[in-house]
Amino acid sequence: MQGSLRQRYDSRTVQSIISLTFDDGLRCQFESALPILNSHGMRATFFLIANRNPTHDLWSGHTHDWWKIQWRDDDVAMLRQLVQDGHEIGSHSVTHHPTEMPKQPALEACESKKLIEGWIGTRVSSFCYPFYRSHAFLADAVKDAGYEQARGGGTQPLYEPGASYYAISDAARFDRFNVDCRQISKNEDVAGWLRPGYWHVLTFHAFGGIPVRSKSLLSRKAQRACASRNAQLRTSATDTPSTQHPLELEP
Ligand SMILES: [Zn+2]
Repeated sequence: MQGSLRQRYDSRTVQSIISLTFDDGLRCQFESALPILNSHGMRATFFLIANRNPTHDLWSGHTHDWWKIQWRDDDVAMLRQLVQDGHEIGSHSVTHHPTEMPKQPALEACESKKLIEGWIGTRVSSFCYPFYRSHAFLADAVKDAGYEQARGGGTQPLYEPGASYYAISDAARFDRFNVDCRQISKNEDVAGWLRPGYWHVLTFHAFGGIPVRSKSLLSRKAQRACASRNAQLRTSATDTPSTQHPLELEP
C-alpha cells in the first residue's frame, strides 16, 4: 500500500503485485496471521481503530466476540515490533461508527492518525474507510489530515468487487484516495481472479476461526522487555495520546 509501489515495479517484468491488508485490529489477526506472514517473509498493512474498546463495534453488541487490541502496553509493544519487522500500520478511524463518523469526519481522520502515531511512534500514512466503502464524506478530511492514500472496499455485492485490481502500467488513472480492495473469503479461487500485470489489494478480517480474548500476544520474556522499554518511553511526550475520545474505555 506504499505510495511508491507502482514506480518500483514494471508490468513487463512482474506478473502481478499483491497487497495484503487487515482491518479492525482483531487479536486473531496478530495471533494467527502475523506468524504465518513473518515465517514467509511477507509484509502487510494493519488498519487499526484508535479507541480502547476491548471488542470491535462494541456499540453494536459485540461484547463477547470480535476481540481487538486495546492499546495496552503489551499491545503497543507488539505493534512496535510489527513495524520493526517491516509491516505497516494504518488508521481505521476513531469510532468506526456509522452515524458518528459523518458528524465528525475531521476527528475520525485526523485524531486517529495523531493517536496511533503517538502510541506507536511511527508515521501513519494510510487510512482505511470503515465498513468496506470508500466514503466520500471522509475523503477530504483524510487528505487534509496528511495521509498519502486511503483504501475502501468493493462495490456491491461485497465479496465480488468489480474494480479491486489496477493495471500496473496505467498509473495515471489511479486514485490514491479511492483504492478498492478484494475482501478475502474462506474459499478463494485465486487463479480465478489473479491478473498478470495488475496490482491486487486484498483485505482480511477474522482469521483462524478461534476467538482470541484479551490475553497478551507477547511471550513472557518479550512482555518483561517491553514493560521496561515502555516505562522509559512513557517519559517521552510523544508516547502520550493527545486526547481521550468519549468512546474510549479503559482496558
Ligand atoms: Zn472495519
